[in-house]
Amino acid sequence: MNDKELQKEIVYLKNKQNVTILAHYYQSIEIQNIADYLGGSLELSKIAKEESDSEYIIFAGVDFMAETASILNQDKRVLLPNPESCCPMAAYLDAEMVREYKKTHPGLPVVTYVNSTAEVKAESDVCCTSANAVRVVKRIAKEFDVNSVLFGPDSNLADYAEQKSGIKCIKMPEEGHCYVHSQISVDDFKRSRDLIKDGLVLVHPECIREVRELADFVGSTAQMYDRVKNSKIEEDNFIIGTEEGLIKRIAEDFPDKHIYPIREKLICYNMKKHTLELIKYVLENLDDPMFEVKVPSEIAEKAIFPLKKMLQIS
Ligand code: SF4
Repeated sequence: MNDKELQKEIVYLKNKQNVTILAHYYQSIEIQNIADYLGGSLELSKIAKEESDSEYIIFAGVDFMAETASILNQDKRVLLPNPESCCPMAAYLDAEMVREYKKTHPGLPVVTYVNSTAEVKAESDVCCTSANAVRVVKRIAKEFDVNSVLFGPDSNLADYAEQKSGIKCIKMPEEGHCYVHSQISVDDFKRSRDLIKDGLVLVHPECIREVRELADFVGSTAQMYDRVKNSKIEEDNFIIGTEEGLIKRIAEDFPDKHIYPIREKLICYNMKKHTLELIKYVLENLDDPMFEVKVPSEIAEKAIFPLKKMLQIS
């Protein structure tokens, strides 16, 4: 089957069986185009919480996203088409490490990026995404009446949240990073700006500080999308510093704008482990336990609080 035939079959199977497909912007365009909902982590968390109609959610994203959907929907079956689709950044921090940080920094709230395991979330006071990290840090610091928080696992987002909030974000751990965004360098910025002189540079907060400080706009995937969507008529050229799935989405949705990647091959290979073939196979085998992501209830019961707190703040 070619992609068009696979997409047609997937749409037929999901409608027939009342399945919802959620896809992250970093999926291939072919997968994005068959999703019921497409978004960044924050929007997808909200949808996962509010989605009440279907018994099954197929999550075309990485494992922590499917775990979040499972925590927020304990009564639903959440399926990850490729069980090996995981986020290497989340692996920088485990629950035992968080417990140690709490011991050495008593009284400080724990803020964890949603890009973390369910066990880590269960040890946290509040979660955040790249879209709301600054607001979350300010709010929790005020609530705890402190000037510092523990923040993990992305050290670049911690640095960004600290810069913007004025609240010290102690990194859990120092070296946590996203291999996709942290590879964007000052040279990439200069090279693309030399090429497209009036190009507005939009980058993700997971980029290193030196790149963020040169950029015209720093925002989450959805915020970058909206920045182009709401741009002025004279803003023609955009240089985008994030995963190529979002860059392709923006180029397809706004054909009157010129969209350039800040560097070639910004690919999250972990996100790209899902394929149309796998999604079709899952739809034909919805009850195969191999695809189900189920967070144990004792972890989910704790992890739901920091997630709900984040959603209240957002
Ligand atoms: S883009 Fe980075 S943070 Fe997102 S899933 Fe891939 S490795 Fe993890």
